[in-house]
Amino acid sequence: MTNNLIQWPRAKYWDKAWNPIIGCKPCSTACENCYAAAMMRRFGAADFSPRTTTRVNPPRSGVVFCGNMTDLFGEWLEPFDSMEFFSRLFHFTRDGSPRPNEATYLFLTKRVSRMADALCNYTDVPNALFGFTAENQEWYDRRFAEFRKIPTKFRGWLSAEPLLGPIDLGLNHVYPPEAAPFQWVVVGCESGSGRRPCPLEWVESVVEQCLDAGVRVFVKQICLPDGRFVNTLLDFPKHLRIRQVPWAKKGETKK
Ligand code: SF4
Repeated sequence: MTNNLIQWPRAKYWDKAWNPIIGCKPCSTACENCYAAAMMRRFGAADFSPRTTTRVNPPRSGVVFCGNMTDLFGEWLEPFDSMEFFSRLFHFTRDGSPRPNEATYLFLTKRVSRMADALCNYTDVPNALFGFTAENQEWYDRRFAEFRKIPTKFRGWLSAEPLLGPIDLGLNHVYPPEAAPFQWVVVGCESGSGRRPCPLEWVESVVEQCLDAGVRVFVKQICLPDGRFVNTLLDFPKHLRIRQVPWAKKGETKK
């Protein structure tokens, strides 16, 4: 590994969350210990079925995670069946009034074909990074096959969290780096008391593949060989202290 540039100090890579919908339905292995469902249970909600909220408009500054308590591209709600919902959603990522929109919007889904359908009506969605989650090789292969149908300009990132198996990203023949299928990868083990195993080698492999291909990588959290869960960089082995992000901080240009 040649590059251990550190750009982001915290394990949480976003500043604000925006949830026009909360609640979701499990759709794959990664959902078994769903963070959002656990969070809602903690706050006393008995029901995790998807529903709209009053948070219609997203924040206009910072790094905004759109839908960390749901999958915004789920198939269950009526608004998702019309393009109106996405028109409204993407309007905010474009809109420059009354002041410039300084936010970076992160969209993430496990329903990649739904994301592809939503994006096919757009030529550009500025300030937004679209990505998908993959927890192991099987789900990577299945979702990546759909992700490749999305125009290159929209293909932003991959979240390999929770990492539940080794993943060959297939980046080894990608050249130049701009041709990579995504520009950024977040990788991390599962969190919580019931977390499933994630040997360090799986994380190391993802990091190595990204660095070799010139794709930015962000190591969020890991499980050490002694079983400890850690998300503070100083607790990581030196070669995994890497938290690159694809957006520029204020006053800084993208590298
Ligand atoms: S897709 Fe995400 S929010 Fe929905 S159940 Fe799975 S882990 Fe939870």
